[in-house]
Amino acid sequence: MEFSEQALVLKVGRFREIDAWVRLISPQRGVYTAFAFGGLKSRRRFLGCLDPLNHVNFKVRRTGHGGYHCLTEARLLDAPMRLRRDPGRLGMAVNCLKFFEAVQIGPQGAAEAYALLRDMLAALEEADAPSPLFPLLFRARMASLQGVFPVCGRCAVCGAPLGDGEAVCHVEAGRLTCSACRDENAPGVRQRLGAGALALLASGVAGDARAWAHCRPEAAAAREFSRVVDLLVRYHMGLAWERGGFVRA
Ligand SMILES: [Zn+2]
Repeated sequence: MEFSEQALVLKVGRFREIDAWVRLISPQRGVYTAFAFGGLKSRRRFLGCLDPLNHVNFKVRRTGHGGYHCLTEARLLDAPMRLRRDPGRLGMAVNCLKFFEAVQIGPQGAAEAYALLRDMLAALEEADAPSPLFPLLFRARMASLQGVFPVCGRCAVCGAPLGDGEAVCHVEAGRLTCSACRDENAPGVRQRLGAGALALLASGVAGDARAWAHCRPEAAAAREFSRVVDLLVRYHMGLAWERGGFVRA
């Protein structure tokens, strides 16, 4: 069986002398690995395509019963330029990709995840000075796609709109309440969120990566937001950022 599809290159590795394996995500198939036989030698067939973060149209052959994917042709659609030259931007993109891989999206979430990764790369490529909070906003969006993020905008107990005042995130319960509905006696971790942090949370969940790149919050709001994302991701997804990678918490 042979098919042709657009995919984003996540990782490339070498095996044997001139062959490569390529980790890809496509909107139809999600994340999979394919082989590019002769990929490191046949410059003409895969010209400039086999690099991480490239957006490529691949022709793929699937061989045998339960067989493997084999790349037979590639055409480069676009590749980030600024992002590759700027360690700050690249670091943020790599952080987002590491989180994405740690989450392990199934085929059902593939189209959304693919669109999010493409938006993430485009926003980091285009913005003049991407906000340092960008990777955390990306994590908030991924977590909300996985259904493990609180509903933003209103109190989970009384339904009052949140936004102008302050709110409390109950981490284990995964919900936000207004400060009047906070239960002082309930066990568990709570994090206070002011209006600035609530706006960041809402922006993360909304998923507009270009808006993330431009956000310039006050330091206190950034701190509250960062802390609540770390706590929620750690508790509900079992992931924590340590020594340059995500580990099972
Ligand atoms: Zn309330």
